[in-house]
Amino acid sequence: MALPLEREEIQRLTEELEVIIAAHLAWFKQINRTLVCGNSINRADLAEDAHLRSPFGQWYHSRETHALRENADFQALAATQQAMHAATRLALLEVLDKRRPSPELYDQCIDLAFRLNTSLRRIQLDVIGELLTTDSLTGCASRRGMFNRLREEQERATRIQRPCCLCLMDFDRFKQINDERGHPAGDAVLRQAIRFVTGVLRKYDTIFRYGGEEFLLCLPGSPVREAVAVVERIRAGLERLPIRLPNGETIFVTASFGLAEMHPRRPVEEAIADADMALIRAKENGRNRVEIWTAT
Ligand code: GH3
Ligand code: MG
Ligand code: MG
Repeated sequence: MALPLEREEIQRLTEELEVIIAAHLAWFKQINRTLVCGNSINRADLAEDAHLRSPFGQWYHSRETHALRENADFQALAATQQAMHAATRLALLEVLDKRRPSPELYDQCIDLAFRLNTSLRRIQLDVIGELLTTDSLTGCASRRGMFNRLREEQERATRIQRPCCLCLMDFDRFKQINDERGHPAGDAVLRQAIRFVTGVLRKYDTIFRYGGEEFLLCLPGSPVREAVAVVERIRAGLERLPIRLPNGETIFVTASFGLAEMHPRRPVEEAIADADMALIRAKENGRNRVEIWTAT
């Protein structure tokens, strides 16, 4: 799945999958009725490209499913659905010729239709599960599951012998924004600022909401001197980002950043502690700046 999904996207996909599952079951019921009772056959099911014509086929290849394209279960649906239609077509041709499909062929149709249903449900559960690991305000990854994902990144970095950096980002004087303009204004700042940051990050970078107005960036593949350039781009872009508040007012905000490298043989928690030391220094040195902490 292209992660993380926004909350609205999760809701939309969940509902859409429900509709597709219902459509698949309705199709399956009608096929089964034909196979058992010999009812009239839907010509579309006899076509070579029946898998493309069905509601499922049209949905599967539509733009709506874009967010699911990287999901392995989603990719596997194509083969199952195509095999299901091929088997069903053969079974229907038997009925058309006033014969009964063999038990093996009938089983194949049923098994594939069930498998498609189960796979769709599993994908739907995966999508809903995204809610647990997505921050509802900003749409970035939440703290839940963060340490596991960071440890995976650390293992990958060790395996491919590439460095991986962590960066803590904390908004400057954020309490003041809440105090002077209200909590909804603070929320609007977080939402827009994090959308901007996400846009600057590279494909394999991740941003987690670490807590409150503090975020953790995981920057794989770069040594500190490269990661600092990415973070500096975020810092400089953020200070120039016009943020529109609910009352129509436009304001500008800044953040401070603490950067540290993850080391293969040190716990992830220690790299976060290093980044935190760097962040404290960035605050002490005047805010709106990037500092680096080198483990000794
Ligand atoms: P500093 O520059 O030292 O970081 O100052 P600060 O004011 O940003 O730091 P402080 O930790 O005192 O205040 C952080 C504030 O962020 C307090 C908290 O109410 C606010 N905050 C945390 N999460 C949210 C949120 O989701 N929405 C809003 N509106 N405010 C939040
Ligand atoms: Mg702050
Ligand atoms: Mg803070």
